Amino acid sequence: MVTVGILALQGAVREHACSLEASGAEVKLIKRVEELEDIDALVVPGGESTTMRRLIDKYEMFGPLQEFAKSGKPMFGTCAGLILMAKEIIGQEHGHLEVMDIKVHRNGFGRQRESFEIPLNVDGMEGDEDYIGVFIRAPYIESVGPDVKVLATFQDKIVAAQQGRFLCCAFHPELTDDHRMHGYFVKMAEEFKNELHNVSK
Ligand code: GLN
Repeated sequence: MVTVGILALQGAVREHACSLEASGAEVKLIKRVEELEDIDALVVPGGESTTMRRLIDKYEMFGPLQEFAKSGKPMFGTCAGLILMAKEIIGQEHGHLEVMDIKVHRNGFGRQRESFEIPLNVDGMEGDEDYIGVFIRAPYIESVGPDVKVLATFQDKIVAAQQGRFLCCAFHPELTDDHRMHGYFVKMAEEFKNELHNVSK
């Protein structure tokens, strides 16, 4: 069994925990640097990216989170979490953690469409059923680097992507009972753990 942490400084933490547990992972809420050592993978949830960044700095987690990503452990950013993982944010001089080669547009769907739900075709999900994407003041990805695979688009805007062990989506997969996205991430974490195990044997 893999242990997946959820960065629990702010935002939609409890719902992610339910979805991860339903996908067969053990869950740990991460509020301090030391707790990062106990997990195989990390979810960076939605919320408000500037507030989350302030809290990350306050609890001195910025460097350790970048180290965590460098160690190759899987990371999954949803909504504000996606913004925190992006290398580039339109209108800002710097990104935050800058772990994914993506350029994002914060609040990209505009004020008139603050929140909405739409059926999406997300690449890599089991079955043919559409995935219902719940968007709340969501960003979108304007462009991706060569190593990034686009997993879903909506009106030509990229809303889910993967770069190796990094996964992100602009919507809130924790707010529906469809756990396929979390299942996909848990599988990534299991594969990484098995690889590590084989290397150390
Ligand atoms: N608009 C928020 C931000 O810029 C993200 C919203 C969300 O996570 N639901 O951080």
